[in-house]
Amino acid sequence: MRLIRISSEDNVAIAVTAIEKGSVIDGFGFSVLSDVPQGHKVALEDMRKGDKVIRYGVELGTVNRDVQKGEWINEKMIDLPLSPALSSLRPGNKGVVYPNPPERKTFLGYDNGEGRYAGTRNLLGIATTVQCTAGVLRIAAEKIRKEILPKYPNVDGVSALIHPYGCGVAINATDAYIPIRNVSNLIHHPNFGGELMVVGLGCEKLTFDRVLTPDEINDNNVLVLQKCHGFADMVASICRMAEKKLQRLNERKRTELPLDKLIVGTQCGGSDAFSGISANPSIGRAFDMLAANGATVMFSEVTEVRDGVHFLADRCSSEEVVEKLKKEIGWYDEYLAKGGADRSANPTPGNKAGGLSNIVEKAMGSIAKSGHSPIAEVIGPGELPTKHGLIFAATPASDIVCGPTQLASGITLQVFSTGRGTPYSLAEIPVMKISTHSELFEMWPDLFDVDAGGIVTGTKSIDDVGRDLYNMILDVASGKKSKAEALGLYNDLVIDNPAPIT
Ligand code: CA
Repeated sequence: MRLIRISSEDNVAIAVTAIEKGSVIDGFGFSVLSDVPQGHKVALEDMRKGDKVIRYGVELGTVNRDVQKGEWINEKMIDLPLSPALSSLRPGNKGVVYPNPPERKTFLGYDNGEGRYAGTRNLLGIATTVQCTAGVLRIAAEKIRKEILPKYPNVDGVSALIHPYGCGVAINATDAYIPIRNVSNLIHHPNFGGELMVVGLGCEKLTFDRVLTPDEINDNNVLVLQKCHGFADMVASICRMAEKKLQRLNERKRTELPLDKLIVGTQCGGSDAFSGISANPSIGRAFDMLAANGATVMFSEVTEVRDGVHFLADRCSSEEVVEKLKKEIGWYDEYLAKGGADRSANPTPGNKAGGLSNIVEKAMGSIAKSGHSPIAEVIGPGELPTKHGLIFAATPASDIVCGPTQLASGITLQVFSTGRGTPYSLAEIPVMKISTHSELFEMWPDLFDVDAGGIVTGTKSIDDVGRDLYNMILDVASGKKSKAEALGLYNDLVIDNPAPIT
């Protein structure tokens, strides 16, 4: 019989499998006093009515009666803590820098110079200002891959940054800055090594000057299809520009770099009851180690963290960071309200049956991916971080939108946890998959990079998997292919456009 305690401060632990009354718990030295369903909480100490229930190191609520050590704590026994209003959030200075991070403090990346993150891949990125060019761009990119790229063996690939934005949109609308910033930052992604290449149609609303600086707009970097003489000339023009870029990209070499040149993101999708027990806390541990060694690590998914936002404020250390947190979360609240939606985060009957007592506990399962580090900065969707360490990027939780939005914020690798399984990936960066339980890992061995299932069965600790993941992240950042990358899997760049379409 096994229980998992996530954080050393926790006074409850989670049953890995259903436990029968009277069973002795390995490693804890007591027997349970009642039947406990799988995924549910067991008291690790006697509690008095009104005492706090601590899981993930935070208060889930207070018990509404006395509880004995070994007793099952279900959702009816916990009174919800008041969820503080955004306006009352204050910096709590409770973030903890991981005390003994691994000795390995470098990776092999493509340096982009002073003050810029390094690339983890050496790619030609061909961007566009408008979806209208997509058909031509796809054919041109395929031709480049087949006929030109083989001459430049140091370049890993060609990525056509095809997105749904650019025309037929309210380009001056209040929230249009979000898709525009996303496109601009995608063009300048660290994996493209500063070789800018943007294909426009010629009559779109998203003009070059909205996504490039004046210095960058010249015949070496931008191309207008309406100036070409038919399809064949369009493709030939794109290929000519691409070859010049490939010649320069081919000169790039990996060098040993400190981790302050590395920026990694995470998200979860297709989660299950083990996500908050195994995979997500392991990502949190690896991220704590990366942050302690100077790297930048990013977590997101506003609707999944909304009900634990006061615990994010607790890990901020300045008013400035908390103000930005309030601004971005407040924006999202309004965005949902405008659409007549709410965050619907109250646990479903299925969540409760799976052991999630309340909305705070559910949010903390997602937030577990962020570990315990101080939050150095909060950024808006597609915005670039200016600080190192742990960053909260306020993106939607939708996998297919969170991915490109973190990409626009410059991440050069993403760690993705899943318990149900999803083949999600991106073409521009390696995406690594971590499974929450071993059955999934064994069913999809060609899609997963890391298995956190050992935590569930008791053969591994969160620290073990966190360290394995840390090393795997540095291996993949240094050039080892992730499973999804080796298969050539990638999803579309569904960038977020909260502004009207006209
Ligand atoms: Ca997600």
